[in-house]
Amino acid sequence: MIYCEEKVVAFIGLGSNLADPIVQIDQARRAINDLAKVDELGFSSLYRSPPMGPQDQPDYTNAVMKVVAQLPALVLLRALQKIENSQGRLRTGERWVARTLDLDLLLFGEQCIREPDLVVPHPGLADRAFVLYPLEEIDKDIQVPGLGTITALVSNCPLSGLIKIN
Ligand code: ATP
Ligand code: CA
Ligand code: CA
Ligand code: CA
Repeated sequence: MIYCEEKVVAFIGLGSNLADPIVQIDQARRAINDLAKVDELGFSSLYRSPPMGPQDQPDYTNAVMKVVAQLPALVLLRALQKIENSQGRLRTGERWVARTLDLDLLLFGEQCIREPDLVVPHPGLADRAFVLYPLEEIDKDIQVPGLGTITALVSNCPLSGLIKIN
């Protein structure tokens, strides 16, 4: 059988607030590039943002990476989770707690996915400055399935303490 998966442009959100976040993000970028059938097309500036949820944790460093992927979305998510694990991510089952590395699959081509383990576009996307601003920085032409243009989403989302750090 010929196994042929189409190429899809995807966007990955990277975040870290433990154990030298800038190094964590740089290491994750290299690990994502090292994946077979995934290649970088763009990488945003680094941003700093206040934590969501529990406030007794350090600020986050965030970035967004644009890739071309030739594999199913769930396979990419599993690969991203492996990278999180290899960089010391501890899973408590709790959301929004301090972590060495968080990799969220933000967009996967035009696809809308609703599976138990994977929802795309990422459910928090429209409300999160630390996702929307770097997305727009690296690709001003993004259309978010079901939600409209990245430019419109950014213009409806206050910065909420987001700052660019490089
Ligand atoms: P949030 O998803 O609100 O940003 P979080 O990143 O802290 O919170 P995690 O604990 O990292 O949440 O992930 C919880 C679960 O979310 C994962 O087990 C994963 O299966 C699921 N999930 C659903 N959709 C996505 C997606 N688009 N990207 C990453 N994980 C997702
Ligand atoms: Ca690669
Ligand atoms: Ca997240
Ligand atoms: Ca996550």
